[in-house]
Amino acid sequence: MSREQDIKRMEELVKILNQYNYEYYVLDNPTVDDVEYDSLTRELKNLEQKYPSDILPNTPTLKVGDYLKTDLEEITHKVPMMSLQDVFSFDELYEFDERIKKVTNKYTYTCELKIDGIASSIHYTDGLLTLGATRGKGTVGENITKNVLTIESLPKVLKEHISIEVRGEVFMKKSVLEYLNNIRKENNEPLLANVRNAAGGSLRQLDPSVTKERRLDQFAYTIVNPEQYGIYSQIEALNYLKHLGFNVNPNYRHCKTINEVIEYIKEFDEKRKTLDYATDGIVIKVNEFDLYDEIGYTVKVPKWAVAYKFPAEIVTTRLKDIIYTVGRTGIITPNAVLDPVLIAGTTVARATLNNEDFITSRDIRIGDMVRVRKAGEIIPEVVDVDLSRRTTNLPPFKMIDCCPVCGSRLLKGDNEAEHYCKNPDCGGRILEGIIHFASRVAMDIEGLGEKQIELLYNLGYLKDIADIYLLENYKQEILLLDRFGDKKVSNLFNAINKSKTQDLDRFIFGLGIRLVGAKASKSLAKTFKTLKGICNATYEELISIPDIGEVMANSIVDYFNTKKNRDLIIKLLDLGVEPKEYNEVTYDLFLGKTIVLTGTLEKLSRDEGNAIIEKLGGKAASSVSKKTSFVVAGPGAGSKLAKAQELGIPVYNEDDFLEMIKDYL
Ligand code: NAD
Repeated sequence: MSREQDIKRMEELVKILNQYNYEYYVLDNPTVDDVEYDSLTRELKNLEQKYPSDILPNTPTLKVGDYLKTDLEEITHKVPMMSLQDVFSFDELYEFDERIKKVTNKYTYTCELKIDGIASSIHYTDGLLTLGATRGKGTVGENITKNVLTIESLPKVLKEHISIEVRGEVFMKKSVLEYLNNIRKENNEPLLANVRNAAGGSLRQLDPSVTKERRLDQFAYTIVNPEQYGIYSQIEALNYLKHLGFNVNPNYRHCKTINEVIEYIKEFDEKRKTLDYATDGIVIKVNEFDLYDEIGYTVKVPKWAVAYKFPAEIVTTRLKDIIYTVGRTGIITPNAVLDPVLIAGTTVARATLNNEDFITSRDIRIGDMVRVRKAGEIIPEVVDVDLSRRTTNLPPFKMIDCCPVCGSRLLKGDNEAEHYCKNPDCGGRILEGIIHFASRVAMDIEGLGEKQIELLYNLGYLKDIADIYLLENYKQEILLLDRFGDKKVSNLFNAINKSKTQDLDRFIFGLGIRLVGAKASKSLAKTFKTLKGICNATYEELISIPDIGEVMANSIVDYFNTKKNRDLIIKLLDLGVEPKEYNEVTYDLFLGKTIVLTGTLEKLSRDEGNAIIEKLGGKAASSVSKKTSFVVAGPGAGSKLAKAQELGIPVYNEDDFLEMIKDYL
């Protein structure tokens, strides 16, 4: 390539990468995957090395992140929040080690998992959380204090009353992404693309109640100005963060040599696949802080650390067949049957092909070699086809026109991508309806998952959702089935009985009324309070609810006017199902926590304190045990305080407690 061509390519790359950065950092909505982004960045860096005097001033290789000016207040970072230098091979790690050796011979490394989330800076004043900020452009970020306060795993009060800035990664668990996307699917809302962008979008909300619904988490990994606290190495910093009450990822390791680092990487390339949070690499840092200034910094990254990026998990395999599944609303999904391949630690033999348009726009044909990935490391999907490997003439894809289960003719609305089976008695739809009713997002019947329901349905023990509550009639038969031992069966019946008093909104959601998702179900339960109220709601009453439009209101009225559905509800009620009336827990700050108040509280009465704990989803208890989450102790506290100290249970004073709850009152 001539110099001119190279310079032209550099300009092109800067433009493309700046656009990708904008989509990734500002819109939280990337249009290319990280592998493609990283390879273009690499190409640009190589050209910039070749022509250092032609580096463009707006090159992304000299910039940390980006953000869009919103109504969030700007925060200047006194110590800039930097990015990390990526490395993609062990050779590059050896080169990094050589560079360190040029400065010193006395050093060790710490290895930490690189959590795929959003960098955050959290400030504490006298032990209380006072400010949260995003990394933003590195020097200036956004004020997200209200949002970080909703993160349960982030301490609001430290175990020591010190002022400190702590940095860490805010992330969304894979299971939370899956849960939220299930609900979004039900509500016909666009799905969250991946955990990283979901965490970013959730953290930079103007309304903290939205952030709260996204159930974010945080791992702390660094302290600003650590020597002020007598901390002189990364290992000490991680231990100190744990001591202060932070969630520190437990998988870090102190390594003496670069070979130990490589062993760690090999080990965690496997282990990370079983974790409930996404990791996109390993962060390797020189452990000793006194070496940092000497090793130095570039404008974008510290030179004493690198991020080793794991190889991509996109795999090419043969598409053997396309089969179809029927959803409970009748939606038909084409699925790829693949030559089994190992992706992100699991064997994948099926992957979604979304819909007819997806397949035809990519010209995917049975017999092709297709590229498959696990989106967000969870759902396998076909990405595209490798046309260069199509050697024989393959017939173009043709969508089926009849339901694969009941044979009814499929329908497709104008402007809609999906085909539907509209037969309400379709066995496929009924089966999916029962699976949905029992699922975690609806009635939450543990032990009654997809596989069990399919089996019981095929045996004729389940014909509709109400039959779940008649399953005990088949107890003897079920006990004879494979993988249904005594204990399992007894747990299953307990879970079924327990679900009889599930919350009303979950019950309504479980019925699978067309267009009525989790959010609308909640609004219905909140407005009408009882099942009877919802069943008898008129169209006018329904459209006066903000979350419910005309089409949904019609769908609800139709559902409850249909005799078959009314009979189903009567059958459920006769079998003892009695959904719990909607009871508004405004916040769940203390959800799952047992809290004991002891001693004299000066600003709150004991009753007020207990009522607040219950209102925020916690349990107010009167005695301390191993199950106690924390104790709030006022002057004069005696044996309960002593017991908490003996059991190592956190103890806060009344002011700490008021600080924790101040945003919720
Ligand atoms: P980065 O995410 O690669 O690395 C720096 C970040 O790592 C830190 O800011 C911190 O948030 C995080 N981190 C996680 N665990 C850590 C730990 N234990 N210790 C220290 N830091 C830890 O840097 P970046 O500049 O934000 O992003 C660059 C990467 O983002 C690229 O390599 C690319 O993969 C991706 N990207 C993709 C697109 C796209 O369009 N697909 C666009 C821009 C960037």
